[in-house]
Amino acid sequence: MNMSFADLGLAPEVLKAVADQGYENPTPIQAKAIPVVLAGRDVLGAAQTGTGKTAAFTLPILTKLAPMASNSVSPARHPVRALILTPTRELADQVSASVTTYGKQLALRSTMVFGGVNMEEQSKILRGGVEIVVATPGRLLDHVQQKTISLGQVEILVLDEADRMLDMGFIPDIRRILDLLTNRKQTLMFSATFSPEIKKLAAEFLNNPETIEVARQNATNEMVKQELHPVESHRKQKLLAHLIRTHGMTQVIAFCRTKQGADQLARDLKRERFSVEAIHGDRLQSARMETLAAFKDGKVQVLVATDVAARGLDINDLPYVVNYDLPHNAEDYVHRIGRTGRAGASGVAISFVTPEDDKYFEAIKKLIKKDLQLVPVPGFSPGTHALPPPTRPRSGPALMGDVQVETPQLPPLPKRPQQIAALFLPPKAPIQR
Ligand code: AMP
Repeated sequence: MNMSFADLGLAPEVLKAVADQGYENPTPIQAKAIPVVLAGRDVLGAAQTGTGKTAAFTLPILTKLAPMASNSVSPARHPVRALILTPTRELADQVSASVTTYGKQLALRSTMVFGGVNMEEQSKILRGGVEIVVATPGRLLDHVQQKTISLGQVEILVLDEADRMLDMGFIPDIRRILDLLTNRKQTLMFSATFSPEIKKLAAEFLNNPETIEVARQNATNEMVKQELHPVESHRKQKLLAHLIRTHGMTQVIAFCRTKQGADQLARDLKRERFSVEAIHGDRLQSARMETLAAFKDGKVQVLVATDVAARGLDINDLPYVVNYDLPHNAEDYVHRIGRTGRAGASGVAISFVTPEDDKYFEAIKKLIKKDLQLVPVPGFSPGTHALPPPTRPRSGPALMGDVQVETPQLPPLPKRPQQIAALFLPPKAPIQR
């Protein structure tokens, strides 16, 4: 029997907002976490974006704060009672939007605080009084220093994507913030992974937590088709353009390892007349938001992103995700392909694997416990130098240098290529024993 939201003990105003969103049943993390949070326990939750984790902590927090809702104009009647810390501005923005959506029936105030935007505007809102603050750690500390925010009445703290906060070096800031939360009663920590470091932080920050784990969304999600192509580095851009055309991709996110790589790929694809934008940490917050909105609206066909910029972005049900650069961190592979095949929709995760990627490829296979096979794309097999067959008719005169070369016969593939490098080397003479 499916559990319903009404069984979880949420406030009627919150239930109404959830019904307005059209959610029928709680997701597994919601069903498990909501009663525990309402009971006042600390939580260590293993959940990625896409599992419904934001509502898993937002709905019970709103329920707990509902009795304190007040229409008073006095700032003193609206102290900060819940603080939600996120590693990135984008995630803060999304969490904040969820708080607004799920809390729309309640006279509770919320705001977000992150760097890269005017501090004065944030200060004005904070001075007026807000019960729920969603913040990135650095900017929150700036406000503490300027005395525009007081955290002494915060009862509930959420650390969202704690693993990424760790990666991004935010833990000293978090410790500083924790010292200011003198009235903290409950802490909820969410992380996509339970690494030894995360367990250590949980032991430091949480008090007898309930550990809640939900199945990894996509490591074993059969709805995601994983296609891996061996390719030489210098031909990756042409291969991507070829695949976008042949698959008729209208919305695709391509992951690059570096900001420079992302910019370069975006430029190259623009030259191929695709509508493409890059998002990474060097781009202004406002530009990142604009780009994301355009991508979601279908105005941008290809979004080139780095892991940090894409982490936590609520981009659901993407039909295609491309690992243009294979990630060096196997966990990132799981995060990246988690962008597709969500909520029962099918998706394709395409990865380019170069000879230099051998050890990262092995690490990914080990992590997801799947023997992923490399399948060359005709015309792009390593060791061949043919152009792919044209995928759309060209009109007008042939361009200089636009040479058509016949696609050679593909060599038979080894049945279970263990080492990618083997695909890139000339065949060896059989060893005589
Ligand atoms: P999150 O993991 O919090 O980023 O949520 C991923 C997406 O799932 C968001 O777009 C939510 O709006 C959506 N969502 C959250 N809870 C539910 C639910 N119970 N039923 C359907 N969709 C949901």
